[in-house]
Amino acid sequence: MKHLFLFVLSVALFSLIHAAHAASRHPKILVVTDEPGAQAAYLVQDSFATTAPYPCLNVEVQVISLSREELDCRPHGDGRDRIVLCSSQASRKAQELRRRVGAKKVLIVVDLPYYGGNGGPTPVVTSAAQYRAPKTGMHEIMHTMGFSDTYDPSGQHSVGSGDIMSCTGQDCYVPQEWFSKVARGLGVRLPREFQ
Ligand SMILES: [Zn+2]
Repeated sequence: MKHLFLFVLSVALFSLIHAAHAASRHPKILVVTDEPGAQAAYLVQDSFATTAPYPCLNVEVQVISLSREELDCRPHGDGRDRIVLCSSQASRKAQELRRRVGAKKVLIVVDLPYYGGNGGPTPVVTSAAQYRAPKTGMHEIMHTMGFSDTYDPSGQHSVGSGDIMSCTGQDCYVPQEWFSKVARGLGVRLPREFQ
């Protein structure tokens, strides 16, 4: 009986440690979309795979496709151009899926033919915005990590602290503090070589 208890305990401990380890090694971002074929969502996935500092943090981007009815975004603005919001039902559904798959962040890619998005707690981009500027989804997710809109007119480097937002190339200059901020935002420790 005692042996059985110890065995069960060690299996439980092992799975706990393993789960914690796996989670810390691969922080996950979830992209939920109602676009048939999910192409714009896969562009978000590509952008995280090719933009510093995300590959250094082994960020995994998972895509979940829903029908328009299932997502039920009911896109609307708030009076400002380019702001696209989804219904609270859609945001709740996205957050529920995020928790279910163990992701730290979630983005909704709503299938719309015009350029828009927003960076609220459940950020949204339109498929058209993602096609036109492939880092729009990343930009909106980064708002949830505390990054602000500070665009450099040259589009090369950041102008203020915490700005990755204007960065469009794969070899963007990434200051140390971005690394730390992104790592914090994704709930992971900065790899030793970047500390
Ligand atoms: Zn923004």
